Amino acid sequence: MLDVVVIGAGFSGLEAAYSAQQAGLSVAVVEARDRVGGKIWSAPLASGRGYADLGGAWINDSLQPRVWAYVQKFGLGVVKQRLEGRAVMQESQEKRFEFPFGVTPDFSPEEKKNLEYIRDHIQAESLKTGLPSAQVDNVSLDQYVRDLGALPKTAQMVNLWARVMHGLESTEESAAWFIDYCRRNKGLLAIRADDSTGGQHLRFQDGAQSIATEIAKLIGAGNIHLASPVASINDYGSHVGVITRTGKTFLARKCILSVPSTMYKELNITPALPQAVQEVTNNTILGDYNKAIVCYDKPWWREQGFNGYFASYLGPVILARDTSVDERKHYSLTCFVNGLPGRQWSKLPPHERRAVVLKQVAQIFKTDTKSEVFRPIEVFDQIWQHEEFSRGALAPVTALGHLTKYASVYGRPVGNVHFVGTEYSPEWKGYMEGALCSGELGARQVVEAIQRVPAAKL
Ligand SMILES: Cc1cc2nc3c(=O)[nH]c(=O)nc-3n(C[C@H](O)[C@H](O)[C@H](O)COP(=O)(O)OP(=O)(O)OC[C@H]3O[C@@H](n4cnc5c(N)ncnc54)[C@H](O)[C@@H]3O)c2cc1C
Repeated sequence: MLDVVVIGAGFSGLEAAYSAQQAGLSVAVVEARDRVGGKIWSAPLASGRGYADLGGAWINDSLQPRVWAYVQKFGLGVVKQRLEGRAVMQESQEKRFEFPFGVTPDFSPEEKKNLEYIRDHIQAESLKTGLPSAQVDNVSLDQYVRDLGALPKTAQMVNLWARVMHGLESTEESAAWFIDYCRRNKGLLAIRADDSTGGQHLRFQDGAQSIATEIAKLIGAGNIHLASPVASINDYGSHVGVITRTGKTFLARKCILSVPSTMYKELNITPALPQAVQEVTNNTILGDYNKAIVCYDKPWWREQGFNGYFASYLGPVILARDTSVDERKHYSLTCFVNGLPGRQWSKLPPHERRAVVLKQVAQIFKTDTKSEVFRPIEVFDQIWQHEEFSRGALAPVTALGHLTKYASVYGRPVGNVHFVGTEYSPEWKGYMEGALCSGELGARQVVEAIQRVPAAKL
């Protein structure tokens, strides 16, 4: 019998397995997909010009120590997010404006003051510690800022934050969930920043998935079972049995479950999870968090003085960045097609999805049909809600009121089953760093639990 069976080979599952192994435990990782990395997936460009990161891409060297330690350990090349040039804001079909990157968009003085007031309020809230109150958990983010006096344009900007950060509308997540997310992630401004103070500072030259591939090598290919979706988990008290859809059975003293909580209800866990755990996990939702990555022969937007960043209230692309890796002659714009516009866009057939993205990019950069915009060399689009083993992104979001009501059970072990995943991380929740942090903590819990109880005799 194994010491630990880990379900899921995303960043949290791999880190949990590797940490447990480092502590001397025997492990098996059981993964549904035929690859490791979960929501980190780097697709090779047909042109050979590197990789397109269809999931997570950005990291920070000074603020995210775990992910950065792996970058150094594995000798991975990184590139700095390019910021030089003008950014664009699309307010409506008719109205767009260009602005120097990093300044508050050019609203009227009253609107600007209002936006800064709400932003500063949330930033101040997000630098506090502990959980926000149940009262704040029972109102949506949208209602919360309106109650604070947000003008329509400010409310629209807050909605853009919710779309960009979580793939949801600000009416769909609680104010407490949003503030707690900011608290765990060094504050609203650090989350939004694209320079060295924030979460979008660096990217990988050869794709973020290289970290997962390298950790998997450390764990050992023989200990990782790909293409093995878990069908059921049985906690027998003395040990756990995990059975896959392919008919394999794994017996272990402990199970670490790294699948996003929204999917626990499909895993046939016996005995059933306690009522409160079911209540909170059955009601978590995942956002519409999609990417369309448009690759070009040359970074034509730079020649026109743009840095490739744009944001839009209109959509379907709500935000885009230059994700080129010049060292690989890879020039791309990564377009986030999130929230409600993303939900609608994801229902279109592939050729229409690509057409609307290209048309919007052309509109944003004020180019015509003869422009380079319409001559991409490769286009990727990735809809995470369509993935059977992800069902959306960024991370599960608890229902209104549940974050505070179920804080004492959410993510806590139940019998021999321990839970990890970026959603539970005290630091950088929703990010690769958070997944690593949660995996490390989950492994520590299991090591301690195993040390407390002598091995069961089967
Ligand atoms: C579009 C997008 C952009 C992002 N941008 C960034 C970014 O720039 N920076 C950043 O740090 N983070 C980013 N993220 C978030 C980051 O990808 C996640 O926080 C992180 O990868 C989550 O890791 P995890 O281990 O918690 O979950 P997951 O990666 O979801 O891992 C869960 C694993 O469980 C497996 N699984 C599911 N069901 C089963 C089953 N029945 N049996 C066996 N295995 C199963 C899955 O296949 C998966 O491998 C982004 C994510 C997306 C989608």
